[in-house]
Amino acid sequence: MSSELPPRPPRVIRDASRDILYSRGRLLGKGGFARCYLVTEEYTGCHFAAKIITKQRVEKPGHRAKIEQEISLHRKLHHRHIVQFISSFEDENFIYIILELCNGQSLAHMLRSRKVLTETEVKYYLRQLISGLRYLHQCGVVHRDLKLGNFFVTDSMEVKIGDLGLATTLEPPEMRKRTVCGTPNYLAPEVLNKRGHGPEADIWSLGCAVFTMLAGRPPFSTSDLANTYACIRSGRFNFPPSLSHAARDLLTSALTPDPDLRASLLDLQSHPFLMQGFVPDRLPTSSHLSPPIFR
Ligand code: ADP
Repeated sequence: MSSELPPRPPRVIRDASRDILYSRGRLLGKGGFARCYLVTEEYTGCHFAAKIITKQRVEKPGHRAKIEQEISLHRKLHHRHIVQFISSFEDENFIYIILELCNGQSLAHMLRSRKVLTETEVKYYLRQLISGLRYLHQCGVVHRDLKLGNFFVTDSMEVKIGDLGLATTLEPPEMRKRTVCGTPNYLAPEVLNKRGHGPEADIWSLGCAVFTMLAGRPPFSTSDLANTYACIRSGRFNFPPSLSHAARDLLTSALTPDPDLRASLLDLQSHPFLMQGFVPDRLPTSSHLSPPIFR
């Protein structure tokens, strides 16, 4: 490993293969491998997000392959509720992934300022997330890292599933990798039990994310990891008292420990929580900071 400081990404980024120049703007966020910047395509003035990976940081065998896997899976996907992949290229020092810009940060950021979301908002986001995830699974891809930090919000308050860094192609159960990956709180029981990550495990993680939005805390969080894992394996969690019957029923069906008995995305899509009562078509941008009021 070199002791030199990693170089800063250039102010003007050139996609030589397509002859496109982007000017680099503010830092949008940092991830495990990448820094993500706002960039403007010089000719059109269009804004995008550029995920920039320092080559020095992915010198280890396997790291580079992971980035290439992310790119090859993401570039084939086209759906309103999946962050759109635009292009990828590299120069001497960096790998660049140009993505649709989601200027509203993530639902994790939103929850940090709001603490908890209303059932009406959660219905609005969940419909979109199910639609994106159904598409992903239909394409034979499992995400494996669904969490609020990977649900990105656009200027028009639409939500998009992003960060395919841990995504993989769907394999039959006997062919699946058994490694435990993802955020410990959102790990499905079968992943903990080393049976591999199938589409059902994504549904479990989605259930955890929905619970977190409604309760303001994750379903399986205790001070001690062994106890957390025991609660995950037995599907033991406590609802906040304010939750509606429909919300409780949806969460119970998504957080069913046996993956064969767990709700499917179709089950969730047609669940009374999403089918009954008011589900808005839009949310005001003020709902980043305060509960929306509908007249
Ligand atoms: P990593 O795969 O290294 O974890 P992420 O894909 O999670 O990287 O991106 C890191 C951060 O960059 C995110 O938390 C978010 O703040 C920002 N970011 C990523 N993609 C976008 C996007 N499409 N639009 C706006 N910001 C983004």
